[in-house]
Amino acid sequence: MLFTDIIRRKRDGGELGAEEIAFFVSGLADESIPAEQVSALAMAIFLNSMTFEETSKLTLAMAGSGTMLDWSEEGLDGPVVDKHSTGGVGDKVSFLLAPIAAACGCYVPMISGRGLGHSGGTTDKAESIPGYDTAPDFDTFKKVVKSTGCAIIGQTADLAPADRRLYSIRDVTATVASIPLITASILSKKIAAGLGALVMDVKVGNGAFMENEEKARTLAHSIIKTAARAGVTTHALITDMNAVLGTAAGNAVEIAESMRYLRNEQRDSRLDEVVIALSAEMLIAGDIESDRDAAKRRCSDAVTSGRAAEIFGRMTAALGGPSDFVENYASYLAEAPVQRPVFLRGYLAAVDTRAVGHAIIELGGGRRRVGEVLDLSVGVTDFAPVGTLLDSERPLAIVHAASKNDADAAERNLLAACRTSAEAPAQNPVVYEILDGDA
Ligand code: URA
Repeated sequence: MLFTDIIRRKRDGGELGAEEIAFFVSGLADESIPAEQVSALAMAIFLNSMTFEETSKLTLAMAGSGTMLDWSEEGLDGPVVDKHSTGGVGDKVSFLLAPIAAACGCYVPMISGRGLGHSGGTTDKAESIPGYDTAPDFDTFKKVVKSTGCAIIGQTADLAPADRRLYSIRDVTATVASIPLITASILSKKIAAGLGALVMDVKVGNGAFMENEEKARTLAHSIIKTAARAGVTTHALITDMNAVLGTAAGNAVEIAESMRYLRNEQRDSRLDEVVIALSAEMLIAGDIESDRDAAKRRCSDAVTSGRAAEIFGRMTAALGGPSDFVENYASYLAEAPVQRPVFLRGYLAAVDTRAVGHAIIELGGGRRRVGEVLDLSVGVTDFAPVGTLLDSERPLAIVHAASKNDADAAERNLLAACRTSAEAPAQNPVVYEILDGDA
């Protein structure tokens, strides 16, 4: 089979068959198809999309491109449930939700991704914890999930290797925001991880890959329907991404915010709403609770009681991180040498969130090329929520940069990304919709 024929068929709007998709996926995994041809097909799919049949075949083939985990022999006394986000800026939800759901009786084997396009990646953020192994062998991964209730790791070489390669190529070829490619990418990892149920955080807004609710709903339906074909019960929440989620965006700075949340010291209200709604939905999808309000109370109690923090600490230590990370996180995280407040005047009315993500990439916190090494210390903190009255006492944010020049550029980028008004603006809702499986 000639790969150029496959590219040509998709370029001309045709439908790929099972054999063509299998050829593509095996060539992705064993790297027999070079990056330029993968990029060309990714762009053709981006432009001409895929049918549901093609998307399902791509998803299942990518899931089967490596090891498929099976939890049935592990004697777990709760459901195996995970959450995945379609990506945003400041999205540190995984670090909070995994231990919360574990504290409520779920087992969460979370295989996360690296930064993608303008959005940050959970795996990159986890790597700001010294010693934390984001690529343990499967035995260790299973042991940590079994003993602590959760493990957040990255994609290993053996798990959905086809997605791993396609993901890194999409990241740098402007081919991320494609419904079939996002569906296959997310679900291939989740199906390979052997989940019983999944909760999707489908982000919508100017910092998301889906900029309007209609597209977000289409993506949610595509994921729910494709997951159902693989036997994974999936619920989806459509949540707002028209602003940085929480107050920090970057890598180490988001881990620091996560620790303040788990220690119940600082729970930004919009971040908290997303975390609790998604964790509660995991209890519903995993059949631990049937009432959403009761599930939310249980999840919030897991934070206030300190149980979620304790589980995060045990998970971190079991994956090679410091045993006192939750207690002493600040002494372990890299700090950028330049920290500078950025000032604006008036009510913060709107944020171009994608531009904030790009500002972090320019600071060195995200990738411009495949394999680029990140500066995990850079980013922004204290980002004001939309509606905040900014003045000389209340900056828009604090930039964390490697140099004065980088801080100058980030300051310009942030100022260009934000608009103020004389009147307090209306607030967007945080959770727009919950789709509980009947796509
Ligand atoms: N998350 C993924 O794992 N893949 C995508 O394509 C988008 C978000």
